[in-house]
Amino acid sequence: MASACSASGRSLTDVELVAITKNNPAEVVAELVDLGQLHFGENRDQEASPKSVRLAELRPQSQAIWHFVGQLQSNKVKSVLKYARVIHSIDRESLVSELAKQLPKFEGNFSGFVELNLTNDEGRGGVLPENLAPLAESVLQLPNFELLGVMAVAGLGMDPAAEFEKVLIASGKLQELAPKATKLSIGMSEDFELAISMGATHIRVGSAITGPRPLNP
Ligand SMILES: *Cc1c(COP(=O)(O)O)cnc(C)c1O
Repeated sequence: MASACSASGRSLTDVELVAITKNNPAEVVAELVDLGQLHFGENRDQEASPKSVRLAELRPQSQAIWHFVGQLQSNKVKSVLKYARVIHSIDRESLVSELAKQLPKFEGNFSGFVELNLTNDEGRGGVLPENLAPLAESVLQLPNFELLGVMAVAGLGMDPAAEFEKVLIASGKLQELAPKATKLSIGMSEDFELAISMGATHIRVGSAITGPRPLNP
């Protein structure tokens, strides 16, 4: 991260590392906490919810901030808001409606990203670029919630530079209606350096930190 930042004249403090700990036990998260890591990301509520509880037992003093980065079913929103502060995967109106219903029941501030679908497959997570604006308008109405910007996952086998270029264009469009939503959640283990050079403010890195993920956590 440091060399990628300096290569593109950016400050390391402008890029948040979200360590993706899915398929790894709370003990691994605790080790990362001991190393000073603050932000953690998970993609399944069934796994993340007990893990957040377990981390609080293992490291009661930890200030860990949980990010939810996976496809979020509406019926999981209530559970996810109990531990996650940042939602990276807002991708449809029905999810925004559920957030509107649940957010007032929770204290503290929440924030998140609208997830962009970079493929032509509507079944994939994320909103198609042409539908980003209306969805963002809805997110801007949410109580107690700050829209940070756009999140995306580069498609498998696609050129990540071309993929991130599409994200930058969508981000520019988003900022026409939400000038403060400038953040970019792009970049994973394979492409975080490129993502940093293209303006990532949040990188979501798993296996480059934890090693290959165990299949059965
Ligand atoms: C698993 C995951 C990551 C991290 O992937 P790595 O290749 O292990 O760095 C990032 N973002 C999302 C949405 C993920 O599901």
